[in-house]
Amino acid sequence: MISALYERLESYYDEMVTIRRHLHQHPELSFQEYKTAKYIADYYRTLGVPVREQVGGNGVVAKIVGAKPGKTVALRADFDALPIQDEKDVPYKSTVPGVMHACGHDGHTATLLVLAKALYELKEQLSGTVVLIHQHAEEYAPGGAISMIQDGCLEGVDAIFGTHLWATEPTGKIQYRTGPIMAAADRFEITIQGSGGHGAQPHKTKDAIVIAAQLVLALQQIVSRRVNPLEPAVVSVGSFIADNAFNVIADTAKLVGTVRTLNEAVRDSIEQEIEQITKGICLAAGCSYEYAYTRGYPPVVNHEEETKFIVEMAKQLPEVTVIEETEPHMGGEDFAYYLQHVRGAFFFTGAKAESVEAPFPHHHPKFDFDEKAMLIAAKMLGTAAISYLNK
Ligand code: MN
Repeated sequence: MISALYERLESYYDEMVTIRRHLHQHPELSFQEYKTAKYIADYYRTLGVPVREQVGGNGVVAKIVGAKPGKTVALRADFDALPIQDEKDVPYKSTVPGVMHACGHDGHTATLLVLAKALYELKEQLSGTVVLIHQHAEEYAPGGAISMIQDGCLEGVDAIFGTHLWATEPTGKIQYRTGPIMAAADRFEITIQGSGGHGAQPHKTKDAIVIAAQLVLALQQIVSRRVNPLEPAVVSVGSFIADNAFNVIADTAKLVGTVRTLNEAVRDSIEQEIEQITKGICLAAGCSYEYAYTRGYPPVVNHEEETKFIVEMAKQLPEVTVIEETEPHMGGEDFAYYLQHVRGAFFFTGAKAESVEAPFPHHHPKFDFDEKAMLIAAKMLGTAAISYLNK
């Protein structure tokens, strides 16, 4: 059955490219992917595959029920784009000003649609059910995964698999990792309320800039002095707002930053440490503060057995030349939520053509990926689905 699947996927490769380029030309932002959702649902309707729309928002879920009974496996692809102006010079560049598929989610969608078509044609040989989860809004917290799960997209699912095309790793490489593979990505905001005044009379003020500057430096000690060195963590202040005239002492200053962690306990402790340090510095300076910590996605934590299983699948593909255990990526992904509910694994499919020397990273205005990698991703997910159902 797997060789029949590969034959079909190879013969449908051009269609995969056509779909990907259509989506690339018509990107939609997170939570606004109405046309993309309809495009996906229409594809399933044309095939004759039962499809459910508006799952937890703009999500679309299709089901391929095999002729023989068995387990249920889910495959997930996201389909939202980013608020970035496409600066590539290619015929399939985005037609929407300021919106672009700069993370490869167009490729994920094309991969899953064509894989679904091939699997549907082989349903007489299929033991069990394959659930195709087309998820909206991955790029923008709270994301689409939570609401799709609440709306039942994982009902009856025994395991889930998903992949991200990765344009900075060569095509032919599969990257895996047991345990955390992507980080929790959170946001914090601190407003220091000092007491402004004349730049020539600092003794009559509480200078919010000086207090906030002290705080920026003190926050650097969380990772270096308060977190176990064996636990990865990032605390970065990305924004420091205190804009006054040159001879005015700031009344307020605002710091906005991000925290990345792989371990929920470390995450909890950093949330508290930031506030404790802020409180201490403000107490010493005799001023007040406001603190808000907004949780993004939790870490993506792969299950051991399913990760090993993905490695076994990769070994079966002649196109896969390198299978590598990756270091965790400190970016976030709401695939995390599926793995909190069912067993499964998320992996990276290299998507950098040999001819490309210095690929533009994800979320870059010139981002692009090697379309051949979609075929590898489709074979990986297809092999995983069939083999899992036959296990
Ligand atoms: Mn992405």
